[in-house]
Amino acid sequence: MIKKNLEEIERRIQRAAERSGRHRSDVTLLCVTKTHPAEVLREAYDLGYREFGENKVQEMREKVPLLPGDIRWHLIGHLQKNKVKYVCGMVCMIHSVDSLELAEEISRRAQAIGQRMPILIEVNMAGEASKFGIRPDEAVNLVRAVAPLPGVQLRGLMTIPPRTDNPETNRPYFRGLRELAVDIDCQNIDNIQMNVLSMGMSEDYEVAIEEGATIVRVGTAIFGERHYNI
Ligand SMILES: *Cc1c(COP(=O)(O)O)cnc(C)c1O
Repeated sequence: MIKKNLEEIERRIQRAAERSGRHRSDVTLLCVTKTHPAEVLREAYDLGYREFGENKVQEMREKVPLLPGDIRWHLIGHLQKNKVKYVCGMVCMIHSVDSLELAEEISRRAQAIGQRMPILIEVNMAGEASKFGIRPDEAVNLVRAVAPLPGVQLRGLMTIPPRTDNPETNRPYFRGLRELAVDIDCQNIDNIQMNVLSMGMSEDYEVAIEEGATIVRVGTAIFGERHYNI
């Protein structure tokens, strides 16, 4: 089933990229593996996938030793400061930075092990009270504050729009995130890049790609429904 799902998703990514004048290689499919056991991840690995996303530090720490060392792990969920020490050295990117304090802690821990951690700033485009992420109008200030930190490398932005049955309703949020990245880029802030846009999930990744996503985070459409009681 995973193989068939991935083939279908590959076709859809390809078509969405073509519709917007982009290439398949401009888009990374991040396999979101939360709640799924290592054997399931292994199936995607054996099909050639290497980018995996988890949203909980503890769950990721349990899975990493069970799987091959060339997997690139991404942390996509909310990160508490006291868990940062477990994450540096384990992941290739943190998508969910939404405060200067968190970025400072990541910088401190990454530097201590001689690394510079690639990070994204999470923006709450729809202003949902239940979601993490900063407001769009706070983004430039946070970018300016984060830019000089020696242990982080700001690479772009991430957003989690509302759940929806109609992906078109999220198009304005994806477009807004891309425009925000362009605005930030125009400010010529030293030591940052704005070339990663992490946006789009199972229901709306095609629209996100049309609006410029460079990483789509897809779970259910690859692995099926999640069961939270395992
Ligand atoms: C779970 C999760 C996803 C994937 O959601 P699906 O709807 O299963 O594709 C993407 N991003 C984040 C941050 C998540 O927590």
